[in-house]
Amino acid sequence: METDVFTAWFEEAARLVRRDRDRLTELDAAIGDADHGTNLDRGLTEVCKALADAPPASPSQVLTTAGTTLIRRVGGASGPLYGSVFRQLGKALETPVTLAGFSAAFEEGVVAVERLGKAALGDKTMVDALAPASRALALAVRDGASVREAFDQAARAAEEGAKATIPMQARKGRASYLGERSIGHEDPGAASAALFMAALAAVVE
Ligand code: ADP
Ligand code: MG
Ligand code: MG
Repeated sequence: METDVFTAWFEEAARLVRRDRDRLTELDAAIGDADHGTNLDRGLTEVCKALADAPPASPSQVLTTAGTTLIRRVGGASGPLYGSVFRQLGKALETPVTLAGFSAAFEEGVVAVERLGKAALGDKTMVDALAPASRALALAVRDGASVREAFDQAARAAEEGAKATIPMQARKGRASYLGERSIGHEDPGAASAALFMAALAAVVE
């Protein structure tokens, strides 16, 4: 996986988030403060601008730039959380990037967000999409899957993980203030995490 694949990942993520911006914001309107779609759309637009202004020389640099930009430009919980995923992923990634290397580094990124957000599987957050995606990648590596198959499986696991947040009661973030009233709605951050994984699957094909 070369540097341009990682740049394309964020361009595609920006496109999907812009396409689904209103849906993400509506999900956040139900259990949060109705800004998730606009937060991420703005952040990813800035990421694409940063990547175009100073084209990174390595996959790690793409991820560090993206993570740092999201932390600086997204004025919500999701900015620092996504920022920490991408910065840790970038830090852990060795060049040349193999599927196994990506999978191991991605797991470190997920651990970073779990630590920062003090969130675990089942708390109804982005972790509920990211952790199953990481697990799917690890299983794909174990089974000798192709890069394409591995990222397709990760995207599917993230999508299923996002849908699985619907019956959950939120235990972290703004949605947790609603208590039982958070039940019955998909978590916006889990929904956007599924878009990030869909974007990755789209660009490796
Ligand atoms: P804010 O809640 O500050 O308005 P956003 O709306 O952009 O930020 O993002 C909300 C999303 O962030 C939630 O749907 C959830 O997935 C994620 N999130 C919030 N708090 C946490 C946390 N402590 N750990 C992990 N994810 C979290
Ligand atoms: Mg919000
Ligand atoms: Mg907010």
